[in-house]
Amino acid sequence: MALLVMSNFGLTLFLLVALPIAALFLFGMGPLGWAVLAGAVVLVLWFNSNDSDATDSTVTPVNCSDCGSPNDPEHTTCQYCGTEL
Ligand SMILES: [Zn+2]
Repeated sequence: MALLVMSNFGLTLFLLVALPIAALFLFGMGPLGWAVLAGAVVLVLWFNSNDSDATDSTVTPVNCSDCGSPNDPEHTTCQYCGTEL
C-alpha cells in the first residue's frame, strides 16, 4: 500500500528529489558550467528573437558609397548627400 501511494506521488517525489540534485549539480559545475548554461539560454533567446525579427531583417539598409549613410533599398539616391546608390 505504501508503495502504491509512493508511485502515485512519484512525479512529486521526483521533483522534490531532482530539483535539489539539479541545484547541487548546477552549483557543482562552477563558472564554466554556468557559462555553458548561460550560453545555451542566450542561444535559445537569440534564435527566438531572430524568428520574430525575420520580417524586419528583410529590409536591409543600403550604405551610400559616398558618405556611408544607411538608405532604404527603394531609394535610388542617397537621402543625405544625393549621390546615386
Ligand atoms: Zn550619401
